[in-house]
Amino acid sequence: MKSKGSLVVISGPSGSGKGTVVKKLREIMPDVALSVSATTRAPREGEIDGREYYFITRDDFEDMVAQGEILEFTSYCGNYYGTPKKEAERITGEGRDLILEIEVDGASQIKRLMPDAITIMLIPPSLSELESRLRGRGTETEQVITNRLARARDEIKLAESYDYVVVNENDGIEKCAENIRDIIRAERNKSARMTYITDTFLDN
Ligand code: ADP
Ligand code: 5GP
Repeated sequence: MKSKGSLVVISGPSGSGKGTVVKKLREIMPDVALSVSATTRAPREGEIDGREYYFITRDDFEDMVAQGEILEFTSYCGNYYGTPKKEAERITGEGRDLILEIEVDGASQIKRLMPDAITIMLIPPSLSELESRLRGRGTETEQVITNRLARARDEIKLAESYDYVVVNENDGIEKCAENIRDIIRAERNKSARMTYITDTFLDN
């Protein structure tokens, strides 16, 4: 018998490097899956429906919530973001670990619902570096950048409520992904996750 996969929550301020690091993590850890969220925000250039997000209307999002099809959701800088439940259950049911790249409110909902979820906060080396990454990405308007930077301070204040904090140093994407890989590997061997093996051993 195989145990269920774990949820691995990765949060961090916008621009901290979550998308970049998670992409690298999946290259070095291909057995880990990535949840595709639903959102009401408009796609950025190059984003594809069903790959980065399911881009849906507010009405459709609210319907999904009402039907119980969303595991957690939040309103972030004026748009809804949420994790589709069915897909998360299917993947973890197959024994695969699933990354949820979500903000702090969603992360605390997940930890409340599923205390054994692994929560990791990714932080930049400084707020000024965060600002330059966000500007350097060039995907947001000035107003959106200001909103996101204001929110970053509140998000980083919550770092201690996470199981792990990982710093995404400048030009340290690979090292950062390896750090997260090591956390996931160690968590897989936690005694509480190994009971399906120890129980089988004792039954025979
Ligand atoms: P998030 O998903 O957290 O909003 P991104 O992955 O989009 O952040 O990264 C924001 C910007 O910072 C991107 O332009 C990315 O190339 C850059 N970036 C990410 N990690 C690093 C790093 N370790 N050093 C320098 N630049 C980085
Ligand atoms: P972005 O607009 O930059 O893609 O995402 C904005 C924020 O929403 C990021 O912090 C991202 O992690 C978060 N986010 C993305 N999907 C979800 C989700 O399904 N649930 C929650 N709670 N946050 C999400």
